[in-house]
Amino acid sequence: MLENKNQSRTGIENLGEFGLIETLTKQVEINNDSTLLGIGDDAAIIHTKQPNVITTDMLVEGIHFDLSYVPLKHLGYKAIMVNLSDVYAMNAQASQVTVSIAVSNRFPLEALEELYQGIHLACKTYGVDLIGGDTTSSTSGLIISVTAIGHQEESKIVKRSGAHDGDLLVLTGDIGAAYMGLQILEREKAVFKANPNNQPDMEPYSYLLERQLKPEARKDIPLLLEQLDVVPTSMIDLSDGLSSEILHLSKNSDVGIKLYEEKIPLDPTVINVCEEFNLDSTTIALSGGEDYELLFTISQEDYPKIKANPNLTVIGHVVDKSFGNHLITRGGEQIEIKAMGWNSFQE
Ligand code: ADP
Ligand code: MG
Repeated sequence: MLENKNQSRTGIENLGEFGLIETLTKQVEINNDSTLLGIGDDAAIIHTKQPNVITTDMLVEGIHFDLSYVPLKHLGYKAIMVNLSDVYAMNAQASQVTVSIAVSNRFPLEALEELYQGIHLACKTYGVDLIGGDTTSSTSGLIISVTAIGHQEESKIVKRSGAHDGDLLVLTGDIGAAYMGLQILEREKAVFKANPNNQPDMEPYSYLLERQLKPEARKDIPLLLEQLDVVPTSMIDLSDGLSSEILHLSKNSDVGIKLYEEKIPLDPTVINVCEEFNLDSTTIALSGGEDYELLFTISQEDYPKIKANPNLTVIGHVVDKSFGNHLITRGGEQIEIKAMGWNSFQE
């Protein structure tokens, strides 16, 4: 994983901008009826019957990713996932993306092709059409900006702002694994630097590495909620860590939130590796980012509809704003939740 096996190098400067765009996008397929025109004109054309949700995220080399341990194919996949996750967090379905890249000529064509393999795989797997983008050069690193477009009936679009006193706080999946995956990668990078012949056994960490390198956005959750006939009162995706997302929900909804430590769903691997690293697993769950699970609130009367579902865990409830935001520990202590999430402006 740590070495670049790709030997052939075609300089992108020899291809020209149009040749490059054509090479990277020739395998694009249009699968959504709402895409009337894709790549190749001055603009794409889409026509959806429902209102659209639109979101953009930028990934910058050295800030959001480190190419010494992130394979380009995974990076392309992840760049799409982080955007689709924001669409699903509005309880919408994603249908189109655009991808813009700024790239220095230290990247050969083969590297960009790898990046686009991940992008195409993500689009195919999630049923979204790549309908455009922009390509430009950069003096140093790689920058990827993705815009995702989705749609949903207006009455079912869920914002961060609708939670009410008494609502239940629900989390999908389990958390903390992506952050611990990053810890493993950083440790192995240091080991590799010290001894390039060392072949680490990564098998015990495969779940963590997958969650870090190949995250999956929760496309299934808006569909599941539709099936269960539940419209959450508020929702957000977990890009920065549970505590900071809880604070976003409570601030936007003007409420307080109680979170129960014993309810936080953790994979056993996360618990084991936290022990190995001498880290507190609750702290990791609260502050580790990039899980791309969904956090939402539902009214209490919807509880019977969700309670048997293994994808969903009730981890707390909404209280009046005057109570603030607190973690209730296993010992019954109340600890104020502060923003501890990953933040790219923090050192
Ligand atoms: P314009 O000069 O009109 O902006 P471009 O030459 O930048 O057009 O792009 C030509 C076509 O290729 C457009 O449809 C654009 O959306 C698409 N495109 C450009 N760069 C990318 C990219 N990196 N990924 C996907 N599509 C791209
Ligand atoms: Mg352009």
